[in-house]
Amino acid sequence: MALQISEAELERIVRSVLSELTGNGQVKAASGRVVNGQGRTVDEAVDAAAVAFEQLSACSLDDRKRFIEAIRTTGLKNKELLAKMAHEETHLGRYEHKIAKNETACKLTPGVEILEPRAFTGDHGLTVHDWAPFGVVVAITPVTNPSSVILNNAICMMAAGNATVVNAHPSAKVCSMKTIELINQAVVAAGGPDNVMTGVIEPTIDTGTALMTHRKVNMVVATGGVAVVRAALRSGKRVVAAGPGNPPVVIDETADMRKAAKDVFEGASFDNNILCVGEKAVVCTQAAIRPFMEEIRKLPVYELSASELSALMQQIVLTDGGKPHMNGKFVGRNAAALLESIGIRGREDVYLLICQVPQDHQLLFLEQMMPVLPVTTAPNVNAAIDLAVEIEQGFRHSAMMHSHDLAALSRMARLINTTLFVKNGSSLAGLGVGGEGYTAFTIGTATGEGMTTARTFVRERRCALVDYFRIV
Ligand code: NAD
Repeated sequence: MALQISEAELERIVRSVLSELTGNGQVKAASGRVVNGQGRTVDEAVDAAAVAFEQLSACSLDDRKRFIEAIRTTGLKNKELLAKMAHEETHLGRYEHKIAKNETACKLTPGVEILEPRAFTGDHGLTVHDWAPFGVVVAITPVTNPSSVILNNAICMMAAGNATVVNAHPSAKVCSMKTIELINQAVVAAGGPDNVMTGVIEPTIDTGTALMTHRKVNMVVATGGVAVVRAALRSGKRVVAAGPGNPPVVIDETADMRKAAKDVFEGASFDNNILCVGEKAVVCTQAAIRPFMEEIRKLPVYELSASELSALMQQIVLTDGGKPHMNGKFVGRNAAALLESIGIRGREDVYLLICQVPQDHQLLFLEQMMPVLPVTTAPNVNAAIDLAVEIEQGFRHSAMMHSHDLAALSRMARLINTTLFVKNGSSLAGLGVGGEGYTAFTIGTATGEGMTTARTFVRERRCALVDYFRIV
């Protein structure tokens, strides 16, 4: 007697067997067939996403909304698991803050509702502008926010109607591929196609380059440092480049000093300052420095002496190859680990190291991605703003200011020219946490899209009906 078994049941059995075989909870691709987005090669990952894009295109807008809801639900259900995996794999940041990032990505990323069409009516009829998907989008993702960037990108890109291929950072490949697996399982369970988001199981710079130039890829979205932004811009595709920054904070004597200190501490210590928007340097006016330091010393910080700072600099800044850069060994580590490197032990209570430095100190100008906050002084608010502009270095990323002087706030807003500018709040407010507005974990800096949403990943299409449907 022949065994009767449905295709869905067979696939379920194959998946569970393969899952057990890999031993790490990741479902690897069956021969010739990508399951849950797990591509062994660039071609496999792109081909599977291309098929998923066709299937997604046949779905209704209500279907898309349901799939996005499923991604949000699975992200929230697994926010601790993904945070734990990211922390254990990358050794960067803090577990509890990674949970918060996953939660923010799931709750505050807008879906299809942001794709409002535009209409023009007149004597010559009705013209509609609507938003069409690009097709297959490649997302190059960072080690600093692996699962939260992927959840944020998945919601935005799916809302726009695209399928996505991820090339994760090699040091975050397991937690990134797990996020992709969960996203696909959720979409399939909601009745959608498998492989709406795929990834390369063993990502490298070479697989990233191959993806960015792949003929079936229509758009490249790169979130990371200078090198990946340059590589993306060379791809010849439509590019969204979310590059690095070095966010300065200006504090003048009109600020609410207790709040300023609390906000700066919150942003600079969050996830050990690996968020690209996080406060990386403070410029206080001469009149603000004393009250600011008094307030920030009341928080869980450690103030480095001049000799402790120079000992720490020997550890955290490398000068091999000529150009100074941060020692990867210390990126994203707890303040206690940094203190330990200079012989100060047992300070797990400390979340942020602070130090007063002269205006030309190296630390002000390096994107450290560590919980070390250099604080410098300028004679007045105009000089403080001018120095902040130098510290930001034209990345056009993020900046903060604490002041109640409207003219000074307005001057800084104009001169700093960053994508995010937060006034009287922490950098997190710029991501919609403690401030108004939606969130994004891919902030288009080099190419100017700003806080990316589904609106970033669509093509504008015009449909004109001549002489009819002006109904008034
Ligand atoms: P990174 O540049 O080392 O890596 C980012 C990604 O790019 C990784 O997947 C990596 O494998 C890939 N990559 C790097 N060089 C490449 C090349 N030449 N060709 C192809 N792929 C390449 O950055 P990271 O350490 O993972 O992340 C931290 C950096 O990202 C910081 O500079 C931070 O400011 C920035 N960042 C920016 C945003 C934003 O929205 N603007 C968001 C998060 C992080």
